[in-house]
Amino acid sequence: MERVGEHAVVVGASVGGLLAAAALAGRYRRVTVVERDVLPAVGEGRRAVPQGRHVHALLPSGERAMEELLPGIAADLVAAGAVPYEPLTEMRFRPGGHLLARASLGLRCLAASRPLIEGHVRRRVAALDGVTVADRRDVVGLIGDGGRVRGVRVLGREEGSVVTELEADLVIGASGRGGRLGAWLEALGFARPREERVRVDLVYASRELRLPVPSIGGDKVILLAARPGVPRGVSLFAQEHGRWLLTVSGYGAAHRPPADGGAHLAFAAALAPPDVLAALRAAEPLGDVAVHGFPASVRRRWERMERWPAGLVPIGDAIASFNPIYGQGMSVAALEAVALRDCLAAGPGGLERRYARAAARIVDAAWALATGADLALPHVPGPRPARVRVVNAWMRRLLTVAERDPAVAATFMRVAGLLDPPQRLLAPATVARVAAGTLRGRRRRADAPGPVAAPASATALRREG
Ligand SMILES: Cc1cc2nc3c(=O)[nH]c(=O)nc-3n(C[C@H](O)[C@H](O)[C@H](O)COP(=O)(O)OP(=O)(O)OC[C@H]3O[C@@H](n4cnc5c(N)ncnc54)[C@H](O)[C@@H]3O)c2cc1C
Repeated sequence: MERVGEHAVVVGASVGGLLAAAALAGRYRRVTVVERDVLPAVGEGRRAVPQGRHVHALLPSGERAMEELLPGIAADLVAAGAVPYEPLTEMRFRPGGHLLARASLGLRCLAASRPLIEGHVRRRVAALDGVTVADRRDVVGLIGDGGRVRGVRVLGREEGSVVTELEADLVIGASGRGGRLGAWLEALGFARPREERVRVDLVYASRELRLPVPSIGGDKVILLAARPGVPRGVSLFAQEHGRWLLTVSGYGAAHRPPADGGAHLAFAAALAPPDVLAALRAAEPLGDVAVHGFPASVRRRWERMERWPAGLVPIGDAIASFNPIYGQGMSVAALEAVALRDCLAAGPGGLERRYARAAARIVDAAWALATGADLALPHVPGPRPARVRVVNAWMRRLLTVAERDPAVAATFMRVAGLLDPPQRLLAPATVARVAAGTLRGRRRRADAPGPVAAPASATALRREG
């Protein structure tokens, strides 16, 4: 592999930073990943990643991208207890209130806790030639001159530490949604990127459980998302070591899920179909309920900045942080890391701009799916221009047909899994199936014996689940 530089520094050793380091390994003689947190043993959670206590879906695209960067990582995860499952065969998925038809996609996904995924990625990256992962060190700023970033300033977390300089040909900003990249750029005389936000005011509350079964009706993953009129969701994912993770979520103050164990179960019970409810009642809770607030999806338009320093690129949540319901963050970071690797293969000249454009294309698809689905929910505030309303009307129709048509359900699943672009939902074959399915639905309703009452009570909602 052709070298393009001496030293690269990655700020942040979470999933985004670690996968970026995997993309850089071999291209730079040394790659140093600097992390302020204390990095624990594989499989253990850590302070700077509080979201690690909540359900973390790894999309099929994300698993593939990780496998490209770290061949054998999926097998490592399975050996460590990650649970393989087939989407829409061993997964019950109800986006926007539409329970998707069972379908075989010929895909295998993995369900595992976030600490297990991050821990194994970290173990593999730290073992790569030339890569060092250094924890308990805070990056406190960038070194730069003449429009170029030349390294970072680092402060150890031990008492009496002094700031030292770490020179680098390339710095990767992988410090997450709350990272200080924007402020550091300003200190170097650059502007911050423009930010886009979609306010969701979502709260997650999760608890680990032990269930006496390996699946619920054959399902290892159950994902019943919020829908118009019911801004609450429930997910139950099988995890390593016979554990399951129950995450409930609610939009807005009136639907905030509780932290108290009994109330948490009651919140889930009101949304769960009978077989899931029975499993939850038979479950043994393991530990407390963890609560996490997520105010808004945020996208920073790095690719649209007029002036940009050479030697600096962002990745992961530093570019975009999506409503977690859609399970995109780790997978988008993995796809961006593959894009970074590919951009580097074409040489270091103009890397920053080429990568920014490639990353923006990846984010475009995920952002359109996440914000589009959010804006289809009446309880999510925000402007809905004609384009959004038209797309959402189409999505309602498509998802209604996907309740009965496995081919349409599979098409949707591949797009939601970031394997295919959103435009695939408008491909002629899909449009034809949706049109035919809509017609069949109308005929069925016309033939139905009497009016069907809308479900009003929690019991009715549950029966529908
Ligand atoms: C509740 C919740 C649920 C989620 N569920 C899913 C899901 O189902 N599927 C999915 O794919 N994604 C999910 N995500 C998103 C996912 O967690 C992130 O996208 C993922 O962690 C990648 O983020 P990152 O590596 O860019 O940043 P982060 O994970 O935020 O990590 C940033 C790292 O940088 C370090 N750091 C920050 N500043 C400095 C500094 N100055 N010096 C040194 N180190 C620094 C931090 O300590 C941290 O380790 C969820 C997020 C939330 C909040």
